[in-house]
Amino acid sequence: MINSDNNYMNEADFSALLADVFKQNGIEKYATEENLHKFYRFACILREENAKYNLTSILSDEGIALLHFADSLAAADLIPAGASMLDVGAGPGFPSLPIAIVRPDVLVCALDATKKKTDFIAATAEKLGLDNVTVINDRAESDKMREKRESFDFVTARAVAGLGVICELALPYAKVGGRFAALKGENADEELKGAQSGAKKLSARIVGNEKSQLVYKTANGATSNTRRIIIFEKLSPTPSAYPRAYAKIKRSPLF
Ligand code: SAH
Repeated sequence: MINSDNNYMNEADFSALLADVFKQNGIEKYATEENLHKFYRFACILREENAKYNLTSILSDEGIALLHFADSLAAADLIPAGASMLDVGAGPGFPSLPIAIVRPDVLVCALDATKKKTDFIAATAEKLGLDNVTVINDRAESDKMREKRESFDFVTARAVAGLGVICELALPYAKVGGRFAALKGENADEELKGAQSGAKKLSARIVGNEKSQLVYKTANGATSNTRRIIIFEKLSPTPSAYPRAYAKIKRSPLF
C-alpha cells in the first residue's frame, strides 16, 4: 500500500523495501549495497528540498521506491554500454538520476526548462558522488539546443507531454541509429494513433512497444501501475524544421 504519512523509514528499512520492490520487478541486480545507499540518500534529499519548493507529489517510502525509482529503471537495460543519454524534461531527475546510479558507464545529461529543477539535479548528483551526470537548463525546442542535435545514443522522457509532442522535442537529439524511449502510462494506445507516420516525419520509426506492470505486493495488499515503453529508432537526421516553436507544436502536434 502506498502510505502518505510523514513517518519515513530509516535507511535499513527503506533499503529492504527498495530491494524487495526491485526483486518483484525483475531488477534485483541493481539492488547492490552501494546503490541502495545512494537511493536512500536521494529519497532524503528529495523530501528535504521538496519542503522548500514543490518537486513531486510522490514522497512516501513505497511511492518513491516504486513510482520514482523502479519506474525510472524501466529502460535501464535498454541503454547500450558506455552510451551518452539525454533525459528531456527531467524534472527532479526521473528517469535520469536512478539510471545514473545503476549505470555508472552511461553519461547522463538531464535537460529541463526550470532552473530550480536542473539545480536540484546537479546538487543531488554531487551529493551522491555521481560523476556521470551533467545538466542543461533550457527548453528542448530552443535555438541554443541546436548544437546538441543528433548527438546522444539514447534519449528518454517520462511524463513530459503527449507522445506526438514529446517525439518532436526528443527525437532531434538522438544520433542516427540511436534510440528514444518514451516512458508512458496506461493511456498510450490513444497516443499511438498516427505515431508511425508522425515518427517518419522526424526521421524515426517505432521499434518497440512494450506494456508491463509495475508491481509491489505486501501482506497488506498490492499496488500495480501499468506502464508502456515506446521505443523509436532514428533512421537519418531529423529535418531542421523540427522541433518547431512550442506554441506550434502544441497547436498542431505531428500526431
Ligand atoms: N520526467 C520527470 C518530470 C516530469 S514533469 C518525472 O517523470 O518526474 C515535466 C517536466 O518537463 C517539467 O519539469 C518541465 O519543466 C519540463 N518541460 C516541459 N516542457 C519542456 C520543454 N519544452 N523543454 C524542456 N523541459 C520541459
